[in-house]
Amino acid sequence: MNILLAEDHGPLCEFLRGALEREGHQVHCAQDGIQARDYVLEHQPDLLVLDLGLPLLSGIEVLRAIDGRAANTSIIVLTGRVDLSVKLECLNLGADDYLTKPFSLQELNARCRAVRRRRAETESTVLRFEDLLLNRVTREVTVRGQALEFTTKEFALLEYLLLNSGRPVSRQELLRQVWRVMPDAGTNVVDVYINYLRRKLGVFDKSDLIETLRGEGYGMGVRTAVESLKASAMSLPLFPRAGAA
Ligand code: CA
Repeated sequence: MNILLAEDHGPLCEFLRGALEREGHQVHCAQDGIQARDYVLEHQPDLLVLDLGLPLLSGIEVLRAIDGRAANTSIIVLTGRVDLSVKLECLNLGADDYLTKPFSLQELNARCRAVRRRRAETESTVLRFEDLLLNRVTREVTVRGQALEFTTKEFALLEYLLLNSGRPVSRQELLRQVWRVMPDAGTNVVDVYINYLRRKLGVFDKSDLIETLRGEGYGMGVRTAVESLKASAMSLPLFPRAGAA
């Protein structure tokens, strides 16, 4: 896993980094809350191990800042504080688990594995549409086995369209669910990113995978779904095929 370790206590940070690296993880360290927030939002690591007592921005403020904006990042809060209200606040703000100092390395490693396992189980790992595959854990996208590179936002948009294939998705919904902004923000960012996706898919002659649905937004496989509905309706005696009578 890619792990961001947000811990301002230098020796503890180095000790934990070494231990996690020995478990095969790639570890990046942040010394304060602002570094932690920016790194998570930019890189969406698999796991954030977050100390609550950080300078510049507290761990709680980091959680608030990234709430819902790093869907791929699991969070374990690490702290000396033990009060239940703090623990509950962290969980409400999207933390997956909580470790109270002092803790053993085995405990941290076990929690890391458990968080990741839970996450993998609650998500279907691979989304498929025709010969497009999107792996939500490794974040690889392939068309006919050939890899395509996407930015974080492009990936999130494609993932959302795949999760909702077969139905139209409005620009407002995409702004809310993928960009996490209020839909009345006057912006054409959705259309711009749809074009980015189509351009990349176009390399495989697949730019038409994402359909424009007049007045409704965008979608994948919506026309196919509508066509098959029509076809099944037409095969009923009430809807005789043209020329059949
Ligand atoms: Ca601290």
